[in-house]
Amino acid sequence: MKTVRLGKTDLEVSRIGIGGIPIQRPPEDEAIRVVQRALDLGVTFIDTARRYGTSEERIGKAVAGRRDQVVIATKIFDRDKGDKATTLEQLEQSLKSLNTDYIDLWQFHGINAFEEYERVLGGTMEAAQEALQTGKIRHIGISSHSMEVALKAVSSGLFETIQFPFNFVNNDPADELVPLAREHDVGFIAMKPLAGGQLKDANLAIKYLLQFDNVVPDPGIQKVEEIEEIVGIVNGSWELVSQERQKMEDIRAALGRRFCQWCNYCLPCPQEVDIPCLMNARAIENYGEGFVSWVAKAVESGRNCIQCGECEEKCPFHLPIREMIVEHIEFFESVRPLDGSESRQSIFGGKEVQKQSGRRGRLSKEISECNTVNSGNWIGGDRL
Ligand code: SF4
Ligand code: SF4
Repeated sequence: MKTVRLGKTDLEVSRIGIGGIPIQRPPEDEAIRVVQRALDLGVTFIDTARRYGTSEERIGKAVAGRRDQVVIATKIFDRDKGDKATTLEQLEQSLKSLNTDYIDLWQFHGINAFEEYERVLGGTMEAAQEALQTGKIRHIGISSHSMEVALKAVSSGLFETIQFPFNFVNNDPADELVPLAREHDVGFIAMKPLAGGQLKDANLAIKYLLQFDNVVPDPGIQKVEEIEEIVGIVNGSWELVSQERQKMEDIRAALGRRFCQWCNYCLPCPQEVDIPCLMNARAIENYGEGFVSWVAKAVESGRNCIQCGECEEKCPFHLPIREMIVEHIEFFESVRPLDGSESRQSIFGGKEVQKQSGRRGRLSKEISECNTVNSGNWIGGDRL
């Protein structure tokens, strides 16, 4: 596996890392197997967060006895309170969960507004500096979904790495942020390399990011086959031939910028609408039957939306969530129910939607119309 220097941390990590969100989902033994398989294949960079449920604990179990082979990055959870003592308590919890006495890279998690940025430079930063002195952490980074905040953080000299969404659809970082990170020698970690699961062609998605020699993509994975496929891509040719470039253009045009990247920043909704799941309802064919009932619940929750717009203020991608909720509920209702009964009753004016000729056929048509990415090398997991 090729390696890359993670900016001024001087850490030399594998050309690709793994993101720790999806390993919360499978049974624990399977999750551990996935991480261990990644290590066996030469992956030496794992990113997680205090906020990712069981992720730290599972990684801790997976790397037991191999701690020195891996660079572990995690993120500070309790930035809202932002006081030094609480932050240090969170650090102790991360150390315990990860079963380690040091964290290689400790990142300020999801700093998306200047107000928040200023706040974490107080008690949270003091805590981080103290942890550096005591050796409990080795480097300080930051993650954000806001371009303005990310640009400021990279130029500030306070952070050694930046983690930001970057993929060939959401490719804004290529213009300014990636070059700026290079200029300041700040390591760049590309979160959401598969656009939160919207890009099904891992070959294109990963190869695109490998064109940037200071960027480490960290796709979230939850299956052994997924990491095997991704490592296979990294170990192969990174050249993007003209047909592949054209395909990326087609996918960009089909997806547009109007898609949810499942970052959860719009939550909580005062009406308890499961916004991220609902906004990804069109992906149900890819996710299997288990996901269908999950989406159905999200659709039910969507009926409680009072269109207050609070979520839109929090969405770092400025999505018209209210409008998209309506569209996704309509989409879901246009799909024949799993129980074989006739079409769903629309919530909009109580009108009956047209009968469809079968769920799968209809879904395929709807999805291929709105999202041509399904023709890619999709392997059926929910990589991020
Ligand atoms: S607009 Fe709807 S989904 Fe968004 S916060 Fe308000 S109630 Fe929740
Ligand atoms: S709607 Fe926006 S904030 Fe909510 S999960 Fe999707 S991208 Fe994130």
